[in-house]
Amino acid sequence: MKYCSVCGKELVDDAVVCPSCGCRVADATSSKEESKILHILIKVFMVLGCVATGASLIALCWTIPMTVSAFRRLDARQPIGVGFKVCTLLFVNLVAGILLLCTDTENYL
Ligand SMILES: [Zn+2]
Repeated sequence: MKYCSVCGKELVDDAVVCPSCGCRVADATSSKEESKILHILIKVFMVLGCVATGASLIALCWTIPMTVSAFRRLDARQPIGVGFKVCTLLFVNLVAGILLLCTDTENYL
C-alpha cells in the first residue's frame, strides 16, 4: 500500500495523483533517478571546490615570498621596482599593489 508523500493519505497502488490533496504521487524509480543525478552534481561541485581550493593554495608559493620581500624592503626603506609593484597588484593584492605604485620609493635612496 502506498501513501501520499504530501498529505499522508492512503493511495491505491497505481495512483498517479493523490485524490485527497491533488499532488502528483512520487514515482519511486524517477525519484531515485533524480537523486542519482543530484548526487553526481554534488560530487562534481565538491571536486571543483577541492580543485579551486588547491589552486588558491598554489598561489601561496608566490604571495608569501612577495609579501615577506615587500615587508623587508618597506622596513629597510629599500627601493621597490615598478615591476614588483605591478606584480603585487596582479598576483597578490590589488589595493596593496595600487598603494605601492602610489608610494615614491625612489626617494628612499
Ligand atoms: Zn495527498
